[in-house]
Amino acid sequence: MRLTVLGCAGSFPGPESPCSAYLVEAEDFRLLVDFGPGSLSTLQRYAGLHAPDAILLTHLHCDHILDATSYVVVRRYAPDGPYPPLPVYAPAGAPERLATAYGQEESTVEDVYQFYALQPGTFPIGPFTVTVDRVLHPVETYGVRLEHAGRVLCYSSDTAPCEALVRLAQNADAFLCEASYLDGVDNPPDLHLTGREAGEAAAKANVGRLLLTHLVAAWGSEAHTVASAAGAYTGPLEVVRPGASYDI
Ligand SMILES: [Zn+2]
Repeated sequence: MRLTVLGCAGSFPGPESPCSAYLVEAEDFRLLVDFGPGSLSTLQRYAGLHAPDAILLTHLHCDHILDATSYVVVRRYAPDGPYPPLPVYAPAGAPERLATAYGQEESTVEDVYQFYALQPGTFPIGPFTVTVDRVLHPVETYGVRLEHAGRVLCYSSDTAPCEALVRLAQNADAFLCEASYLDGVDNPPDLHLTGREAGEAAAKANVGRLLLTHLVAAWGSEAHTVASAAGAYTGPLEVVRPGASYDI
């Protein structure tokens, strides 16, 4: 499978990146995982306006979903006619949240999206075997394990350290893991990971490589985060960038 990063800025768009959005492809099927602000732009740059065959939203924080509202226009008002509903796997409440964000009274986005409510478990999306489980974040949030042809990609979504994260990432070939916080400062509990905590989860899960994401450029230090992660995980690691692609 191939991972293409469309956006990786943590919490709000950064000077160099939209918010979270990742395109995962296999067998000509493209799954968009999260659809944060700004990523509709990079979707067109790196893949195509109509590239996604399905969308998975890991949780309903605005920095992970808001371009799914802009995308309503793309599909509903296309010059060649409306596109058929696109499957969207998301926490319960997504239809109402996206309709509200879209902003028309009594509006629905269910002409554009066919929603499937996430719950912990394993199920297919296209050619992928997808396992999701609840991770530790203030709203209903799912970490994701994607398997295809014997290869495994795990995505942390947003989470504090938790056992579910290590289970999902176990022996993954690539672990796309958030590292929002700096080590050595007083961070709020049960919300996000530091670089060291991301490295510790990667080491416990015995992953093949660690791809750090969701850094908050304005508040953090990339060098500090990388050094902290490398202190806990000795395998290959890097911070992802928009447009970066990985064959997994
Ligand atoms: Zn979040």
